[in-house]
Amino acid sequence: MSDTNQVHGNRLDPWLDSYAARAHGLRASETRSLFAVASRPEVVSLAGGMPNLKDLPLDRLAEATAAMIRADGGRALQYGNGQGLPVLREQITEVMALEGIDADPEDVVITTGSQQAVDIITELFIDAGDVILAEAPTYVGSLSIFSTYQADVQQVPIDADGVIPEALEETIEKLERAGRHIKFYYCLPNFHNPAGVTISEARRPQIVEICRRHHILIVEDNPYGLLGFEGQTYTALKTLAPEDVVYLGSFSKIFAPGYRVGWAVAPPAVREKMKLASEAAILCPSSVGQYSISMYLEQFDWKTQIEDFRTMYKGRRDAMIAALEEYLPNCRWNVPAGGFYVWLNLPDGVDAKEMLPRAVTNLVAYVSGTAFYAGGRAGRDHLRLSFCYPEPADIHEGVRRLSEVVSRDLEI
Ligand code: PMP
Repeated sequence: MSDTNQVHGNRLDPWLDSYAARAHGLRASETRSLFAVASRPEVVSLAGGMPNLKDLPLDRLAEATAAMIRADGGRALQYGNGQGLPVLREQITEVMALEGIDADPEDVVITTGSQQAVDIITELFIDAGDVILAEAPTYVGSLSIFSTYQADVQQVPIDADGVIPEALEETIEKLERAGRHIKFYYCLPNFHNPAGVTISEARRPQIVEICRRHHILIVEDNPYGLLGFEGQTYTALKTLAPEDVVYLGSFSKIFAPGYRVGWAVAPPAVREKMKLASEAAILCPSSVGQYSISMYLEQFDWKTQIEDFRTMYKGRRDAMIAALEEYLPNCRWNVPAGGFYVWLNLPDGVDAKEMLPRAVTNLVAYVSGTAFYAGGRAGRDHLRLSFCYPEPADIHEGVRRLSEVVSRDLEI
């Protein structure tokens, strides 16, 4: 190693002094660092939010994809339009219509998963120190983005009916009195990740009205909205206030995440900026991913496939609730009406973060509640259990193993 490198940085990373300030906040999230261990076959992972793809018709998909490449390869393998493939933008409005949302294909920006949409929105709106409102808890992947842009994330309490409007307004007023600039409210309305709850119909207009009164943009992130176990859907905030909401959707949970195709629907001025920011970052979303999804939406019975996913996830939700009732009666949890997650409240004296290594040793993995709070400042009394991926028998066994660890921790 050269002298220069010994003076600057440190032995592990000689470029430490050179990073931008925002890069110092980049750390492996609690979920990421767990993935390696949790993916060992002997561990029952109740940690990841991976959709279960076992029922997708892979042979037919392979044939249809090959035919699509033969017919359309010249375009599907080429650079495309920065806003996304026009025919897919039309089809996306049909997907959104299932939740009663009336979107104009012109307002759709296709992104590399909805994750990229969150990234672009944050890039466009956040200077270091600006405030983002989010629920307490909120999606860990968005927290990573917010931290990269050095946002100050203020989290608002939720209950079984989702975010509490009075608490939202109180938080806003307190921040405004302190002269803080609130840029947007990042909202997970349906089958919340990680809390599993859904904002009640009664609260939706209240939330929109509060944000409108305080001139706060709403970012409505809705990857699970079509996965209600009874086929139920809810009024989108976007429908209530089209000009005040950037809506985010994704094919990851209703089809397959590997294509990395999601989308945003934004008011025209924001949409234009999003398109430019996306072009600057990636030129265009994956053409082959978009062509494949467009082909799938055209040639396959995707609505029935979504119903099949719902039935499968409902069975897994039931398996998890039954196992919790059997093994962890001293904990509290919600019964989600859709989506992938149960948010488990541990008994007093049990710390989700500290217990995790012991759980993994006992061959079960979860995500500590701390992952879902900015800076890990809260959440030790909760953990997130995902029921999407493991088979029902494995869910049962995973919860049994978890109960052993919780009981031991209670004795300490
Ligand atoms: N938002 C939420 C709430 C999520 O749970 C996820 C994926 N777990 C995403 C966004 C990102 O999804 P994708 O980029 O695959 O569309």
